[in-house]
Amino acid sequence: MSAEIISGTQMRKEILAELEREVVEMKEKYGKGPGLVTILVGENPASISYVTLKVKTALNLGFHEIQDNQAEDISEEDLLALIEKYNNDPDIHGILVQLPLPKHINEDAVITAISPDKDVDGFHPVNLGKMVIGGDQVRYLPCTPAGIQEMIVRSGTETSGAEVVVVGRSNIVGKPISVMMGQKGPGANSTVTMVHTRTQDLASHCKRADILIVAAGVPGLVKPEWIKKGATVIDVGVNRVGVNEETGKAILSGDVDYEEARKVAGKITPVPGGVGPMTITMLMKNTVKSAWWHLGNAK
Ligand code: NAP
Repeated sequence: MSAEIISGTQMRKEILAELEREVVEMKEKYGKGPGLVTILVGENPASISYVTLKVKTALNLGFHEIQDNQAEDISEEDLLALIEKYNNDPDIHGILVQLPLPKHINEDAVITAISPDKDVDGFHPVNLGKMVIGGDQVRYLPCTPAGIQEMIVRSGTETSGAEVVVVGRSNIVGKPISVMMGQKGPGANSTVTMVHTRTQDLASHCKRADILIVAAGVPGLVKPEWIKKGATVIDVGVNRVGVNEETGKAILSGDVDYEEARKVAGKITPVPGGVGPMTITMLMKNTVKSAWWHLGNAK
């Protein structure tokens, strides 16, 4: 039996349709919808394509969207002042600064300058702290981990009491998803092991996993024989493994040997079309959440 495919592309459609309905309801109730500003510094091609996709998605949902492009040589001081302007703009509910930033700008200073109330990327230390505390404290979850958890839940995978193994301990994926899956509450309550390059016998940990989340950035790292029969496998890795000679586009692969893993796993995410489409979707979800909060609390 081949594993059920958890399609991020399909889930994105479902979630965006849900958000679109919320935006209509919000406009009826408050006379305005969510406001998102995307700040792009410089002309990094990958950043341009991410921002373009974010802007397009926001506009399709009916957001008030500002794309604020700044020159590569903007000073840190001017960028912080720009963020402060949007912190004080009542029509803006989410502020996104596309990373990475040019070397002369301190990314940590920029992330902490964004009001935690408008930090829809979920990277501000205040929001990360609230995520760790859990429960009612949680405000904005970082988008990729939020997308992973949403995929696990929507795929009907039982998380309570499940053995979850997370490969990778980065601040944007491995660490937060490990904390989130171990929280007390729905879509979590799992027993979590986080593994990394210093872990002894990676395979034995992976083999125990009912839910295996892989975010290492190493193509083919997880072998099919490391996967427990029937496990849910979430492959976060996005690796360029070649170029399609006809289209000139990059050939992408995950961290899991997908074709072989499908024969063992119960459910699995593909690359591309798995976790990738969920990240921007969660950014939109956070922005809608922020707008409800701000509009509901407006004086
Ligand atoms: P990262 O910052 O490079 O961290 C990689 C983590 O994996 C590190 O903790 C590292 O361990 C661990 N690791 C690397 N090789 C390993 C090995 N052979 N055995 C065990 N652990 C190993 O990566 P990231 O930012 O989390 O991204 C991971 C992957 O996810 C990348 O392919 C990235 O492109 C992708 N990604 C996708 C999305 C999306 O789809 N939306 C979003 C973010 C990231 P150490 O800590 O010991 O070095």
